[in-house]
Amino acid sequence: MARAAMTTTQAYEVIVIGGSFAGLSAAMQLARARRRVCVVNAGQPRNRFAAASHGFFGQDGEPPLAMIEQARRKLAAYPTVGFVQGTVVSVTAQQRAGSPENGFEVVLEDGATMEAHKLVLAFGVQDGLPEIAGLRERWGASVLHCPYCHGYEFAGQRLGVLYHSPQSGMHAQLIADWGPTTLFLNGDTTLESAERERLLALGMTIEPAPIAALEGPGQALQGVRLQATGSGDARVVPLGALYVAATARPASPLAEQLGCAFDDGPMGPCIRTDANKMTTVPGVYAAGDLTLMRHNATLASAEGVLAGVGAHQALVFGP
Ligand SMILES: Cc1cc2nc3c(=O)[nH]c(=O)nc-3n(C[C@H](O)[C@H](O)[C@H](O)COP(=O)(O)OP(=O)(O)OC[C@H]3O[C@@H](n4cnc5c(N)ncnc54)[C@H](O)[C@@H]3O)c2cc1C
Repeated sequence: MARAAMTTTQAYEVIVIGGSFAGLSAAMQLARARRRVCVVNAGQPRNRFAAASHGFFGQDGEPPLAMIEQARRKLAAYPTVGFVQGTVVSVTAQQRAGSPENGFEVVLEDGATMEAHKLVLAFGVQDGLPEIAGLRERWGASVLHCPYCHGYEFAGQRLGVLYHSPQSGMHAQLIADWGPTTLFLNGDTTLESAERERLLALGMTIEPAPIAALEGPGQALQGVRLQATGSGDARVVPLGALYVAATARPASPLAEQLGCAFDDGPMGPCIRTDANKMTTVPGVYAAGDLTLMRHNATLASAEGVLAGVGAHQALVFGP
């Protein structure tokens, strides 16, 4: 990705922070509206750990990095688009000379500055994974967040769900639609007895013992080793995949810096937006996992389209 010359402040109509499913989709709408738009991207999309992305219209099973690169190449064909490889470290609203509207100054980690009339925040979320030996290195391969993205590939195998919250019982019931399922309580004692009885009646297995480690060759999972208890040796429960409801927090504090309001989502905070994807800060739009309660590349891309159109129409009609 070519780095723009940054000796002076670069001025754009819109800066998109994050160049993945949401950010590139937003920039495409602005490029097609012939607006000067720059995509600043640190290049760490959330699904980079997965070899294949599933369920995306026309691209089911393609490697996610190749999908993003193809989208970037298509966007680069438009003459009003700039790309900067880098990380934005601060954003401030500024009074624009001769205008009642604010503009924004964007500062990159190397100190370079850029300005824009509007911003699109599309910098995604970071996953908070539980600290269990062997879990992190299997993330995206055999430790997974979503059965719609990575369930079909493990259908019929023994599946596991890591207990995380009272909603984990429902999660286990869902996963059981793909294969025989074990709910691993991992030493947590908060599962209510009525819920336990309900899951057992549905044919699920419940393992109360703390997990010692995940085992298997390379990134594959063969089993979950439980800690030894007073009454017996450590057991290994055979398993093909483990589903984990990871917590998700914004990948950058920029939205807090700007004063955007958040709502509580099931996995973590989501930036609040209106129907046009404008945040509670005028001129600042947001899209993708950052604003979604359900995380999915198609939804992130669709949100990016809305944010790009929203930012364009605000340039035309005013805020
Ligand atoms: C392991 C795994 C597998 C998945 N598999 C699938 C699947 O098969 N199908 C599916 O539909 N969904 C899948 N998802 C969900 C999918 O990854 C997300 O929904 C999607 O990536 C969200 O797109 P986004 O553009 O909002 O954010 P991201 O794709 O996370 O992109 C955000 C971009 O912003 C950049 N960035 C962050 N901070 C800054 C900053 N300060 N300055 C500049 N750039 C910044 C990041 O480096 C990154 O490039 C998967 C998720 C995970 C974790």
